[in-house]
Amino acid sequence: MNNNYDVIVIGAGNGGLAAAAYCAKAGLKTLLLEKHNLPGGSASSFVRGRFEFEPSLHELFGVGLPDNPTDYAKMFMELGANVDWRSHNSTYRLIVPAEADDPEGFVGENGVRVKVDASMPVGFEAFSRKLDSLVPGSYEPAMKVFRLSTLMYEAFDMLTSGKINPVKLLTKYGDVFKMAGHTVKECLDELGMPEKAQGIFTAYWCYMGAPPMRFDMLYYMSMMHGYVERGASMPHLRSHEMSCAMDKAIRDNGGEIRYNSEVTKVLMKDGKPCGVVINGSTEVYGRYFICNVHPGFALPDLFAPGEVPEDANKKVNGRPIAASLVTVYLGMNRTKEQLGFHDYSIFIAPTSDSDRQFHLSQGKMGADFVIINCMNEAIPDCSPEGTSILFLTGICYGDVMQGVKPQDYKKLKTKIADEMITRCEQTLGLTIKPYIEEIEIGLPPTFSRYLNTPNGTPYGYQLDLWDSMLPRTIQYEKDQPFDNFYFCGASQERGDGYGCAYYSGQKAAGLVIKQFTEGK
Ligand SMILES: Cc1cc2nc3c(=O)[nH]c(=O)nc-3n(C[C@H](O)[C@H](O)[C@H](O)COP(=O)(O)OP(=O)(O)OC[C@H]3O[C@@H](n4cnc5c(N)ncnc54)[C@H](O)[C@@H]3O)c2cc1C
Repeated sequence: MNNNYDVIVIGAGNGGLAAAAYCAKAGLKTLLLEKHNLPGGSASSFVRGRFEFEPSLHELFGVGLPDNPTDYAKMFMELGANVDWRSHNSTYRLIVPAEADDPEGFVGENGVRVKVDASMPVGFEAFSRKLDSLVPGSYEPAMKVFRLSTLMYEAFDMLTSGKINPVKLLTKYGDVFKMAGHTVKECLDELGMPEKAQGIFTAYWCYMGAPPMRFDMLYYMSMMHGYVERGASMPHLRSHEMSCAMDKAIRDNGGEIRYNSEVTKVLMKDGKPCGVVINGSTEVYGRYFICNVHPGFALPDLFAPGEVPEDANKKVNGRPIAASLVTVYLGMNRTKEQLGFHDYSIFIAPTSDSDRQFHLSQGKMGADFVIINCMNEAIPDCSPEGTSILFLTGICYGDVMQGVKPQDYKKLKTKIADEMITRCEQTLGLTIKPYIEEIEIGLPPTFSRYLNTPNGTPYGYQLDLWDSMLPRTIQYEKDQPFDNFYFCGASQERGDGYGCAYYSGQKAAGLVIKQFTEGK
């Protein structure tokens, strides 16, 4: 076997898969190394009994419709990776339960007392009208956001096309750029959106793990625009289909993939990476490296002390680790209709204030905030006939396992899952527990073990106004520890999410391909 490659990609998460696919397509001799026996990282699959579970993907935006594909669907097409996309014509339903004496409370569906129950439709006009019906006075501010987000996409198209018209940029898109550097909260206040409507409007904060008080408006708008314009998308065979399609595209283009191949060391020559050690024994050599391992683990674990520039170590340690998740996967021996589910994504929140929801999630794995997805609502045949799959997710921050003794771990898992399921039953007025046929529970150590990330985060570093998409983009090349070693994945400029990770791999591959063709 020839052990010299143009580029070695470490880790076959979404970022690594995209990086390897683009490098292979450009004709570079590409090797992708993955410690597990299957691709995808978070984008994977596991089987319990007669159910095949989706471990991570709630929903995707930026795919478009089958007859009108947009960003990520186009990326897959460009790479020759075939995916059978399914779209779902909904955004989310936000429910905030009410205490018995809460004056804002009312009796909602299934006789449950709530103070917010907002099922938000697809389409800018429909979404804004619905918001206005829930909180009068919010139609115009919501429409202003969508008008701005539409302009934002046009402005980005102009910036990336290379045909930049500075006058148009300032006159037509001036308001878009005025928002850069401002938080979601600041912009919604400025646009006059009532406080209660902001809580509903910013419910997607959970997919980014950062609250409106600290999150950059341009970035939030890009996600909101995608979901509200066209709704959510899923591959028919869920995320594993995407990962397998990428695997095939890499091989079809001459790339090599080795599974069960953990990189345990980066080899150095003249102060630069020159190869890697696989599983502690096999050495392979490369000219360029793209690393899909979280930098917080990659730099201390794969390099010897003193090999990484001091500045790179400081940057890695200076950024707060992003949120982690708690998940409960349920294989139900009843259909969704029998259980009473008719929504795809439901967010159950302790308060309608997204910033407060973020603060309540700090340092604990509670059942306060739960995302519940009924997978059969988006993909009716995702489980055997007469059954359904429910997917519950909670969000947490920091080292929530501190002080948990190994002998108490199983008990803790069961307790948290029980609290989350109870919370769903009580808030939705539905019965879940007697119909559970299979259950699997993931806590931060599950994700840490599987993905090799600090605190088990699948989200990279905490997004914040000072460290959001724009500053990270400007800083990206300076943030890389060596001029032939690039990071990709959720820890990079666009933050977490499938699309962002694929994009990060494309970006790292682009820089490697450029250097390679310039002979550097
Ligand atoms: C429960 C859950 C729900 C989510 N929901 C959504 C959602 O609905 N929509 C959305 O867009 N995003 C969602 N995400 C986030 C999204 O999955 C991630 O942000 C994204 O997949 C991260 O991709 P990544 O490229 O950083 O790679 P990762 O998924 O972190 O994968 C890294 C890969 O590197 C491998 N690796 C690590 N160390 C080594 C080593 N030393 N040698 C070889 N291989 C190594 C790992 O095995 C893994 O395969 C969710 C995540 C989770 C966990």
